[in-house]
Amino acid sequence: MTACFFVFEVIVIKELEDKILKEGQVLPGNVLKVGSFLNQQIDIDILMKMGAEIARLYADSGVNKILTVEASGIAVAVAAANFLKTPIVFAKKSRSSNVTGEVYSAKVESFTHGTVNNIIVSKDFLKRDDRVLIVDDFLANGNALVGLSDLVRDAGATIVGAAVAIEKGFQKGGDDLRAKGMRIESLAIIDNMSDGEIVFRQQ
Ligand code: 5GP
Repeated sequence: MTACFFVFEVIVIKELEDKILKEGQVLPGNVLKVGSFLNQQIDIDILMKMGAEIARLYADSGVNKILTVEASGIAVAVAAANFLKTPIVFAKKSRSSNVTGEVYSAKVESFTHGTVNNIIVSKDFLKRDDRVLIVDDFLANGNALVGLSDLVRDAGATIVGAAVAIEKGFQKGGDDLRAKGMRIESLAIIDNMSDGEIVFRQQ
């Protein structure tokens, strides 16, 4: 059984890395564009495999809720929640008319837009007894994960860890958060893409 799971883990990571190499585009400013399978068009096959792998990693964590931030974290969160059988809560980047009542809020600087968003989540959807897994598509400087962690802490809930599809390991977010004791699981970690060539960390 364990060997079988290990094979699955290796296959998912390899498939994701191959997809990144084939379809990813390195843009100026250390941005990796993966619009063809994750950020605009979504490849359901690789998405669901990523979800299954995140669920495998957090199977014993007692997670009962997944928290992400709109928009591009939602797909990965849905895939993971499908296997973990939990609801998903997604923080919004602006207060729309369907967010009523009291909210938890945190300031997050957007890596791709360079703007600062006040992310909010209704107090109805994060409770003290929740055990929360934070999910996102990318981890770069860690601002999104820190902001989402702040929302969980404000609710008095427990963070079981975070899972991201792609970590850019040459940026500081992953190292900083792990040094603070947070469990971070990244399906693919890019160690270098400075010359347009993508180099993955051997995990
Ligand atoms: P952080 O907050 O860790 O600096 O950046 C993570 C957030 O910025 C993610 O929610 C993701 O949407 C976005 N992001 C950061 N780096 C990249 C990237 O290289 N490509 C894409 N598509 N999004 C990124």
